Amino acid sequence: MTENVLTSKIARRIRREGPLSLAAYMAMALHDPDLGYYATHRPIGAANDFVTAPEISQVFGELIGLWCGLVWEQIGRPDPVILAELGPGSGVLASDLLRAASALPAFRRSLRLHLVETSPVLRTEQLRRLAFAEPVWMDRVEELPAGPILIIANEFLDALPIRQLVRGPRHWSERMVALDCEGQLVLVDGPENPALSLLVPEALRDAADLGVVFEFRPSALALGMVLGTRLKCDHGAALFIDYGYFPSRAGPTLRALSRHQAVDPLTSPGTADLSAHVDFAAFVEAARAAGSTVYGPVPQGRFLGMLGVGERLAALSQQATSAQRLQLESGVERLLDPRQMGDLFKALALVSPSVSAPFGFDFAETRQ
Ligand code: SAH
Repeated sequence: MTENVLTSKIARRIRREGPLSLAAYMAMALHDPDLGYYATHRPIGAANDFVTAPEISQVFGELIGLWCGLVWEQIGRPDPVILAELGPGSGVLASDLLRAASALPAFRRSLRLHLVETSPVLRTEQLRRLAFAEPVWMDRVEELPAGPILIIANEFLDALPIRQLVRGPRHWSERMVALDCEGQLVLVDGPENPALSLLVPEALRDAADLGVVFEFRPSALALGMVLGTRLKCDHGAALFIDYGYFPSRAGPTLRALSRHQAVDPLTSPGTADLSAHVDFAAFVEAARAAGSTVYGPVPQGRFLGMLGVGERLAALSQQATSAQRLQLESGVERLLDPRQMGDLFKALALVSPSVSAPFGFDFAETRQ
C-alpha cells in the first residue's frame, strides 16, 4: 500500500503533541490546506463519494427557495437581504433556489448571495454554476455582513468535527486518536475524568452502560450561539436540513464514505468524507440560549410535503417526457420515503424572536 502523506503528517503531530481528539483528527482529515479531503476532492455526485438531496432532485432547492420567499415576506420584505448558504457543495441548491425565486421578482432582486465555503475545489465549482448571481465567498459565518438575513444549510452540520466520550466504570473519558507500536493510527480511550462527565446530558450521564459512546460537536454549538445571537439582533431566519436525532442520544455515528462505501475513518485520512449524525437537541439548546427562537426539527418528508412537493412534482411532470417523469418521481420518492431520507433527515428553523412560526413549522416553538 502506498503511504498516505496526511497519515504521516497526523502521526508527526501526535508524536509532538500527544493523542488528538477526534475533532482535531477530523479537522485535519477534512480541511488540511494541502491534503485534506475538502481541499483536494470533488466529493458530491453519483460518480463521487456521496449524493445529497439537491443533487437528487431540483424540487428540493426550489421548495427551499419558496420557503425563503415566504420568510422574506414575514420579516417585512427587506431589500437588500443577505442570502447565505453554508457549505454550498456544487452550488446546485442555490441555483435551483434562485430560479424558483424568480417567480417573485421583488424577492429575487433583493437577494445578495453569500457563500460560506472553505473548499477551494468546491468554490471553483460554485463560481461556475452561480457566477450570474455574483456571489461573495467567506470562510466563516462570523464574516457575513450585518443586516437582514436568510441562511440555508443542507448537510453542513454533519460535516463539522465531533468529539467522542466513552462511559468508564466511574466517569466518562475521551476517545482519542493515537499511534500504536507500529506507528499506525488507532483509537484509544483517555483517562476517566469527572469534568468530561459534565459534557454528557444529564439524562444520559448516569444511565449509560460501560463503553457507551456519546458524541458532541463543539463547532456546531459555537455556530448555534453565533446564529442565535445574530438573529436576536438582525431580522432573519436560518434553515438547517441534515440527518440526525432529537432528543440527544448515545451511540457512535462517525462514518467515513469513499465512493459510496463505508470505510475505516482512520485508514486513509484525506481520501474519504467523514461525517456524523447531528444532535439537533444540542444545537437547538445553543441557539435558544443565545436568543433566537427555534422551530422543529420536523422530518424532511413532512417538511417538503407541507411546502407542496406533490404539487410541484405534478407541475414539472406535465412538461416532462416519460423518462424524465420517472426520474423526477424516483428522486422525490427518495427524499420523502421514511425508509430513505424522509425521516432520518430533518428540518430545523432558527428565527428572530419577533418572527412568527415559519411556513412548514406551523406549531409551537421548540422547548426542551
Ligand atoms: N450543501 C451541499 C454540500 C454538503 S457537503 C449539498 O447539499 O449538496 C458539506 C459542504 O460543507 C461542502 O461544501 C464543504 O466544503 C463545506 N464545509 C465543510 N466544513 C466546512 C466549514 N468548517 N466551513 C465552511 N464550509 C465547510
